[in-house]
Amino acid sequence: MPGPAAYIFDLDGVVYHGNSVIPDAAETIERLRAAGIRVVFLTNNATRTREAIAAKLEGMGIRCSAGDVISSAYATPLYIKQQYGTSSIFPIGEQGLVTELECAGHTIARQDVDFVVVGLDRQFTYDKLATGLDNIRNGARFIATNTDAMLPTENNFLPGAGSMVAALAAASGVEPEVVGKPNKPIMDVLLQEYGLKVWECTMVGDRLETDILAGINAGMHTVLVLTGASRIEDIEALEIRPETILDSIADIE
Ligand SMILES: [Mg+2]
Repeated sequence: MPGPAAYIFDLDGVVYHGNSVIPDAAETIERLRAAGIRVVFLTNNATRTREAIAAKLEGMGIRCSAGDVISSAYATPLYIKQQYGTSSIFPIGEQGLVTELECAGHTIARQDVDFVVVGLDRQFTYDKLATGLDNIRNGARFIATNTDAMLPTENNFLPGAGSMVAALAAASGVEPEVVGKPNKPIMDVLLQEYGLKVWECTMVGDRLETDILAGINAGMHTVLVLTGASRIEDIEALEIRPETILDSIADIE
C-alpha cells in the first residue's frame, strides 16, 4: 500500500493553542512537505476567511497560503452551491463567513432567503435569532457551519457555534444540516478541492468527537495528538478509536 499522500491537520490544539504555536509544529510540517506529502489545514472555525487563517499561521512561522486551508466558512458556501446552486442567505455569523458566502457567489439578505446559515457570531442577538426563525418558518433551509459547543481560548472556554445553532433549532423545531467535522460535507469539499482519495489521507486532530470521528467516517487514517482537547481515557468512554496516538504533532514520523 502506498504511504500517505496528504496529512490533514486540525489547527487549535494540534498546530497551536490560541496564539502560541506547538513546539516543532513548523519543522514537522516542512519535513512532511520535503518528503512530498501534501499538507492541508482543516478547521471548523467559521469566523475567519482562509486568507486570515493562512496569515495567522504565517505569523507563527508556518508556511501557508489560503489554498492550504479548508474551514467551515469556506466549505459551507461551496456545499450549498454544489447541492442547491447559488442562493440567497441570511447569515448569523461573523465577517469571515459573510465574505466567504459572497466570494462563492451567494447573495446576502434578511428576508425571503433560501438559507439561514449559522456559525459562531460574537455579536449574536435576539434580533438575529428572531430573523433566523422567521426565515425558517417561511421555508428557508437551516444550515450550520459546525456544532462545536465550546470554543477553546488560551485560558478558558467560550460558547461556540453549536450554542447558537441550538438556540435556532430549539426556536424553530428544525435540525440543521451540518457542514463541519465530524460531518461529511466538509470532508467531501476537502477531497474534491485537492483531488485526494480517502485512503491517501491521514487526519490529525486533538478532539475525538470532531476530528477523529470525521476521519473515521470518511475512511481516512487517523492520528490523535494529546496536545489539545481529548485525553487517552476519553477513547474508551466515547468509543472513538484513532489508529495512532501521539504526544504531539512533532512525533509524526
Ligand atoms: Mg482542535
